[in-house]
Amino acid sequence: MTHLDSAPLDLAYRQAVDYLAGIGNRPAGATADLGHLLKLFGGPLPPGPVPAEDTVELLGRAAAEGGIPAASGPRFFGYVTGGTLPVAVAADWLVAAWDQTASLYNLSPAIAVAEHVAARWVVELFDLPAGTSVGFPTGCTMAHMTALAAARHHLLGRLGWDVENDGLRGAPEVHLVGGAQRHMTIDMALRYLGFGSGNVKVVPVDGAGRMRPDALAETLAGCDGPVIVCTQVGDVNSGAIDPVGEICDIVHRRDDAWVHVDGAFGLWAKASPALRPLVAGVEKADSWASDAHKWLNVPYDCGIVMVAHPEAHRAAMLNERAGYLPAPADGERDAIEWVPDFSRRARSLPVYAALRTLGRSGVAELVDRCCALVRRFRDGLAGVPGVELLNDVVLNQLMVRFGDDDAVTREVIARIQRSGVCWFGGTTWYGRAAMRISLVNWRTTEQDVDRSLEVVKDALAAVTAG
Ligand SMILES: *Cc1c(COP(=O)(O)O)cnc(C)c1O
Repeated sequence: MTHLDSAPLDLAYRQAVDYLAGIGNRPAGATADLGHLLKLFGGPLPPGPVPAEDTVELLGRAAAEGGIPAASGPRFFGYVTGGTLPVAVAADWLVAAWDQTASLYNLSPAIAVAEHVAARWVVELFDLPAGTSVGFPTGCTMAHMTALAAARHHLLGRLGWDVENDGLRGAPEVHLVGGAQRHMTIDMALRYLGFGSGNVKVVPVDGAGRMRPDALAETLAGCDGPVIVCTQVGDVNSGAIDPVGEICDIVHRRDDAWVHVDGAFGLWAKASPALRPLVAGVEKADSWASDAHKWLNVPYDCGIVMVAHPEAHRAAMLNERAGYLPAPADGERDAIEWVPDFSRRARSLPVYAALRTLGRSGVAELVDRCCALVRRFRDGLAGVPGVELLNDVVLNQLMVRFGDDDAVTREVIARIQRSGVCWFGGTTWYGRAAMRISLVNWRTTEQDVDRSLEVVKDALAAVTAG
């Protein structure tokens, strides 16, 4: 008996390639509604087996019938989603086919070595301190959680408190400090860790959303005992970058403080010689969280956590090994030492594949190109009557607003989303409705930007006409 009926795989392969080949012509937003999708997927649990091809065919139909938006396509500018490099999709297919538990060297040595090399390349790409440890969790949120757990270990360990064993009850207080525009996932990570997001001392930001170093210094003066300062490079709305170098100089005047950087997409500026000055000094921080599924254009999901104190990183993740878990030999990487997962998929393999294929200059070119395309959006919208630009384009994010009335901005966004040609999301910026333009996709071209600009202007004209 063969171990493989390849028919479902062949069908899925054809569907996937067709989907990707035509992604530029697919609706940028979903067109199927809840009722339709429930009907498509619904019904009772089949009482017995059905052919696997039927199931694959059904999944393909969900895409064909508008349930899978082209969020990875060239004219999707919502959230910060990114596309997928073909080589990264290919590697991800192998991850599924090989089905490795990518936790222990001993279970899957080739995966462990690829991850080890990818980790080293990431440290080189971002020019972080030699010896920085790296883990590949599901996303930036889990990267925050991992890094902040390392911070907690480091700071409380100095005071003789074993937080992994004894928890936080009765522990010395760790002061938490973050900018007013920090991403919500910092707070999520603090909640998971038992710190409580309500305990963040909030540092005021400037008009662009950057943490103010003078205000931070004041906040720090009021912190008696260990401090974790959460900074960000790349505000999710404006792309604004905290002056992390300056912040590190202030914070590191004390020896009981840790600087964490949310660099979900913004840290990739460090990989571009042209943009690197924007994040000058970021390497002086103690930990960094980023994503590969955004700007590196690997498929969901993959985050990156980087810690300048590998011992704290490891101690925060792995306690004593159970008897059935052999310790790795020298030089062998066990991923369980660096992420919160026990069993996990080999999500670092697409990262390895993407970095190996792009090379250093390819990554820089990808980052630079996305930023240039956002400047093209800015130039195409500047001076258009009824359009207000809300931020300086420092990176890959632009926010615009249409007139004085929030309702107009929201209606223009809704109209654009209905067009199917392109997709932008809304947000609130300092209390006013705005449209976000975010671009981290290798597929987007100047033609895509120009076509989308026409859609924006048409929608604005239609809404203001009445
Ligand atoms: C996307 C994003 C996050 C969260 O990342 P996930 O990968 O979705 O967990 C955190 N911070 C910023 C600035 C982001 O853009």
